[in-house]
Amino acid sequence: MRILIVEDEKDLATLLLRDLEADGYAVDAASTVAGGLAMATTVHYDIIILDLLLPDGSGTELLTALRQRRIDAPILVLTANGDLDTKVENFDAGADDCLTKPFAIAELLVRVRALLRRGPVTVSSTLKLADLEIDRLTHQVRRGGQRIELSPKEYSLLEYMMLHSGRALSRSMIVEHVWDQSFEDLSNIVDVYVRLLRRKIDDGVETKLIRTVRGVGYAIGTDGGP
Ligand code: CA
Repeated sequence: MRILIVEDEKDLATLLLRDLEADGYAVDAASTVAGGLAMATTVHYDIIILDLLLPDGSGTELLTALRQRRIDAPILVLTANGDLDTKVENFDAGADDCLTKPFAIAELLVRVRALLRRGPVTVSSTLKLADLEIDRLTHQVRRGGQRIELSPKEYSLLEYMMLHSGRALSRSMIVEHVWDQSFEDLSNIVDVYVRLLRRKIDDGVETKLIRTVRGVGYAIGTDGGP
C-alpha cells in the first residue's frame, strides 16, 4: 500500500512518514500543491494525506484538481481549523475524511486503515471484466461462472490488476501495491505470480485477459490496448 503525504510542516511530515513506514506502508512526501499534484498524477497512491495550508496554495484546490483528473484515491484532509464550514467545504470537494490538528498519530493510523478498507471511492464490491468476476468482500473469483481458487497473493495481484484494468502496470507498481514493499529484487516475483495467475484465469479459455506489455509489465483487459 502506497501513501502520499502533502504537508509543508517538516516536523509533522517527518513524524508521519516514520510512523506510516513503521506501520508497513510505502510512503512518499510532497510539501506544495504543485509537488503533490505532480506526484499524485504520476504515481498511483492507495491513500493521500493532505494538509490544507500549503505555501503555494490550499489543499482544497489540490483536492479539487485531483478529483477533476479522476484520481479516486481516498483523501484524508488535515486541518488546523476544525470548524464545520471547513470540513463541509472539503467533503464537498471530494475528501473522504478530515482530521483536526493537533491529533494523535494513533488516531491517524486508525483512520488510514479504515479508508484503505473502504478502497477507492467509486469501487463497488464486485469487479467484472468480460466473464471474469471477483468479489472484493468474499475474495471469490469466477470465470464463465466457474469458481477459481486463488492463493491470497494471487488474489491480491488479480484484484490490483482488475482495479486498473486496461492500464499497463509495471513490475515495480505491482510489487509496491501487492507486496507492500518496493524492493527491486522482488520484481521477479511478479513474473512468477502472473504465470500462476494466467494458468488459473486464462488457460483453456479462448479470450485471454492477462497481457504482457513489452518494456512495461502487465495489463488485464479485453480490448487491444495498451
Ligand atoms: Ca501547513
